[in-house]
Amino acid sequence: MSALDVRSAQRTTNRSRVIHALRQNGAMSRSELSTVGLSRSTVASVVGELLEAGTVVEIVDTPRIGRGTGRPPGLVALNGRLGVAVGVEIANGIVRVALCSVAQELLLHESAPTDDEAAPEVTLQIVSSLIDRLLARQGFHRSQVIGVGIAMPGPIQRRTGLTGRACTLKRWVGINPRTVAAGVLQLPVLADNDANLAALAELTWGAARGLRDYAYIYTATGIGAGFVIDGGVYVGANGTAGEIGHTTIDEDGLVCECGGRGCLNTLANPDAITRHLWQSHRRRPAIDEVIRLAHDGDAGCRRVLADAGRHIGVAMANMYNLLDPELIVLGGNLAAAGAILIDPLRDSMVRRAIHAGEAVPPVVAGTLDENIVVVVGAAAAVVRDSARFPLPLKQTG
Ligand SMILES: [Zn+2]
Repeated sequence: MSALDVRSAQRTTNRSRVIHALRQNGAMSRSELSTVGLSRSTVASVVGELLEAGTVVEIVDTPRIGRGTGRPPGLVALNGRLGVAVGVEIANGIVRVALCSVAQELLLHESAPTDDEAAPEVTLQIVSSLIDRLLARQGFHRSQVIGVGIAMPGPIQRRTGLTGRACTLKRWVGINPRTVAAGVLQLPVLADNDANLAALAELTWGAARGLRDYAYIYTATGIGAGFVIDGGVYVGANGTAGEIGHTTIDEDGLVCECGGRGCLNTLANPDAITRHLWQSHRRRPAIDEVIRLAHDGDAGCRRVLADAGRHIGVAMANMYNLLDPELIVLGGNLAAAGAILIDPLRDSMVRRAIHAGEAVPPVVAGTLDENIVVVVGAAAAVVRDSARFPLPLKQTG
């Protein structure tokens, strides 16, 4: 390799580092970019090159949310027209699709009803039409899609890529959503579970923006967790990390659908919460109504939500003792209960946490809309993964 080749290879590496940092963080100042292992002068020259090529753009006046109060001048971001990531959420009775530019701009989202008994290919055809419609509305061509992130309501086995039996959509169990979707959509695909992707959404745009280590609790039909460790989601050797709904809270409790006994899900999922209202209310309101009634002062509804919070707090204390996150974000359908659930959760957690008091991390409700947090997280996963989903750049120098 000649000295010229070495310099050229070094320039390519430096460009890739800057692009990767911008895909992870959105808009950044030049001094923030110099913390990714490049000198200030290298950052200045790489950014200059990228500006000239139209790969990055200067952002003059964008207030940034959740990263201090200052508004540092001279932010740069990737050019949002370079490419687009697609997020897809496959859920019970519905699919959602979202578009996000490579500059982390959320563009738009839409949903369509689906039949849970339909074959995955049929559901994916609906997804494909939604993608085409959204791309057309934003003036993007399919060739500008860098990748598609698919969110599944259950764990995906890491080695095989197959959806595990805990998936709540039975037609998808034992299916490899990545390869099936890649076949139908004819686009590069990643697949992960809903809790991990929602964790990425709150990391990218929400309550955990800019953090390196935090835990996200996703409450839906069951309770799942996404662990962000050193800036990335921890999936575990088998891809089942974060199945906090199946941790044991009561050894003598009800038998769970997983075959375990007294799992958190048997005590704090929507089914478990509403079960206890039959005696007092002579009916079982849906979880959204329970939360609404609780906010209106219904004592029974407040009680069952507080009890659920306490049970979740036991699981949180165990998780906190093992992982030491700097923040815990509660998302999904229980987040709307706010302090009614979170205060008892925190009390229960503090009582069992090894560092009581001040050292225990804050527990906050997620800031993103529960209906879109998963689908935009699926798009974020694609934007953040520059190794698997490169930008369609012209190769120069
Ligand atoms: Zn279980």
